[in-house]
Amino acid sequence: MSSDPSLPPIPLCVPEIRGREWAYVKDCLDTNWVSSVGQYVDRFERALAEAVGSPHAVACQSGTAALHVALQVAGVAAGDEVLVPTLTFVAPANAVSYLGAAPVLVDVEPDYWGIDLALVEDFLRNRCVRRDGRTIDRGTGARVAAVVPVHVLGHPVDMDRLMVLAAEFGLSVIEDATESLGATYKGRCSGALGHLGCFSFNGNKILTTGGGGMIVTAREDWARRARHLTNQAKVDPIEYEHDEIGYNYRLTNIQAAMGVAQLEQLDSYVAAKRAIARRYVEGLAGVPGLLPMRQANWAQSSWWLFTVLVDEAAYGSDSRALMHRLHDLGIQSRPLWRPLHKGPPHADRQRLGGAVAERVCRTALSLPSSVGLQPEAQERVIAALKDGAAR
Ligand SMILES: *Cc1c(COP(=O)(O)O)cnc(C)c1O
Repeated sequence: MSSDPSLPPIPLCVPEIRGREWAYVKDCLDTNWVSSVGQYVDRFERALAEAVGSPHAVACQSGTAALHVALQVAGVAAGDEVLVPTLTFVAPANAVSYLGAAPVLVDVEPDYWGIDLALVEDFLRNRCVRRDGRTIDRGTGARVAAVVPVHVLGHPVDMDRLMVLAAEFGLSVIEDATESLGATYKGRCSGALGHLGCFSFNGNKILTTGGGGMIVTAREDWARRARHLTNQAKVDPIEYEHDEIGYNYRLTNIQAAMGVAQLEQLDSYVAAKRAIARRYVEGLAGVPGLLPMRQANWAQSSWWLFTVLVDEAAYGSDSRALMHRLHDLGIQSRPLWRPLHKGPPHADRQRLGGAVAERVCRTALSLPSSVGLQPEAQERVIAALKDGAAR
């Protein structure tokens, strides 16, 4: 296949704006409610809480800000350790670091690329001790305070198993559900399974507000504290009184207006992602050396970015060569994140394994997965992938 300049480029993942976004944003501008207070912020919080089945939701500026505040609300403090998968976008490890705590980087399991719970369990049982109701890392003497399961690419981690372990060792569980809005685990929504859950509404996520995030939790006191921290820990509506160090992490009414409109379409977005995944799985079946991501029997993934592993020997080229080939055909694809233990910010962290994450990173390629990806465009991607196979 040669590149045909008359064909439109196919991006990896772009927003889909076809609902009431314009109307709601215009309403903010018309009424002068443009900043961090307004009915859309409240509406967005209530609608998201309802969508994921969590009692409380607190909007904030980004998914990273949500993680930062959620970790703090859960009691993570300077000197603590927090278990984080090494194969993830960097945000959760950074958020742990903002609090002066240390991420312990855990390898992922090879099937769904989520945090390897066998390694987590081995660490807790064999390298930690319980003392005064706390779990202490024997190697460092630090308290192990929390774990951040990342539902990588929209596929939920085996949360029942994790919650049992967390209860036994007194750990808080902060779900990084930034890629998995709409995904379910045994019928329950990701983000509402741990003690706190975090979502992102960045431009490439399941739905977008331009930029934004949300914390959900079942605990009313935690929701109140999260709201407090995102609002500079202000205690008086008139006087400038603050009772601790807070952050300006609020979401604006304009962003929330967009979020309300986007959320009205969530079901159709997730349905579109699932249809895209189905077409890739069917279209790529039998192509030697391309292994599509899979779904566990406990999961209904949101299939955020459909991703394949490229087996160089069987396919005939490696993931990066394939990426360049697709690029030349106007098709955008992208590798997964470099494992955190391989990059300067977190290279010297304690880690538990990492070889699986390195292999997945070397071989994975995410394919165009926009909600608005049309079947004809997806056929072009599939044809290019077939055409690139061992020849
Ligand atoms: C996108 C993402 C975030 C951060 O979200 P922002 O809104 O961009 O700050 C956090 N964790 C993971 C795994 C992500 O993919």
